[in-house]
Amino acid sequence: MKISLRQIPQGDTLHIEGEEDSSVLELEEANAAPVGPLRYALDIGLSEGGLFATGRIAQRVRMTCVACLEPFEEEIVSDRFAIQIELEGNETVDLTPEIREDMHLLLPAHPRCDLGGEKICPAQFPRDASYSSVQTTLLEWAGRPAVWAALDKLNTLPSDGSPKT
Ligand SMILES: [Zn+2]
Repeated sequence: MKISLRQIPQGDTLHIEGEEDSSVLELEEANAAPVGPLRYALDIGLSEGGLFATGRIAQRVRMTCVACLEPFEEEIVSDRFAIQIELEGNETVDLTPEIREDMHLLLPAHPRCDLGGEKICPAQFPRDASYSSVQTTLLEWAGRPAVWAALDKLNTLPSDGSPKT
């Protein structure tokens, strides 16, 4: 997402809003698959020697729940996206690395399908579960075909056919 400094009005901000190909976010590295484009609404301005951008970035992603191993979709949103970039004499500034970094930070390290609060994860442990009953539950899950299907999907994720080194 390149911004030409000439687009920014003197003493004012430039408002940009739209969609961008989500492949620039490289979310696969974080085991998240983008669903649809990256959406943004940003105000961009110039301050002493720097460019600042504030606004909203949003990306829908598909992740795998760490508890029930089922895939689920979640909207990853930053309503208070804010960056400052030093200009160093450049004519254009690429916001992509900053947006990518922000998105990666917003991704949950341990995604759960009940993240959004609308869904109840089917893999809830009873609160008073003793260790052995937890273990039994785990063994029961392991026999569920859905678990293995989800695991198979994870194992085949880098499907470019290149051998791992
Ligand atoms: Zn779940």
